[in-house]
Amino acid sequence: MKKIYKLPALDYEFDQLSPFLSKELLTLHHDKHHQKYIDNANSILEKIDQSRQNQADVALDSLVKDLSYNVGGHVLHSLFWKNLTPDQQNKEMTDNLKLFLEEEFASVKNFKKEFSLVASKTQGSGWGALVYCPKTQRPFLMQIQNHHLNIYPGFKLLMVLDVWEHAFYLDYQTDKKSYIENFWDFVNWTRVSKRLEAARK
Ligand code: MN
Repeated sequence: MKKIYKLPALDYEFDQLSPFLSKELLTLHHDKHHQKYIDNANSILEKIDQSRQNQADVALDSLVKDLSYNVGGHVLHSLFWKNLTPDQQNKEMTDNLKLFLEEEFASVKNFKKEFSLVASKTQGSGWGALVYCPKTQRPFLMQIQNHHLNIYPGFKLLMVLDVWEHAFYLDYQTDKKSYIENFWDFVNWTRVSKRLEAARK
């Protein structure tokens, strides 16, 4: 039996990220939006599987593009939930991570400023991301359009922020700036550090 995608459970309760995200917004975002990308990806995989079994032609070109969009959505949302935490002990930045960011961005404060800017300037729908370049061992900022465009292939994702309108509209309406400001109070730095350690291996 071939594997398909499944919605991962959150590591916390839906009301625990308040005041960054309300229970209503997080529930809608996780249970409806994230689920939709999974359902779409699985349905595309099924279409491709069936066409191979039946040796029937499908519009593979457009299916592969749609698959990239929906799998991208699933991967990024899965990481986004893990990036967030209500636990104070996970909100402490490790010395290694701090040094890594300071070497590139001069200070953690400036890193947050640059990341926030890149995320806030996303045209249409997209994500802000902190990634690791395996060739230079440096952190890069990435501005992902939709879920799958403008990426640097093979770079390791360390941290992502969803700046699609569905990610904040219910709580913030058009105030994307406050949404991004509040994000910093709920970042799981323990997780980001672990992803950095793994990326460096
Ligand atoms: Mn989203």
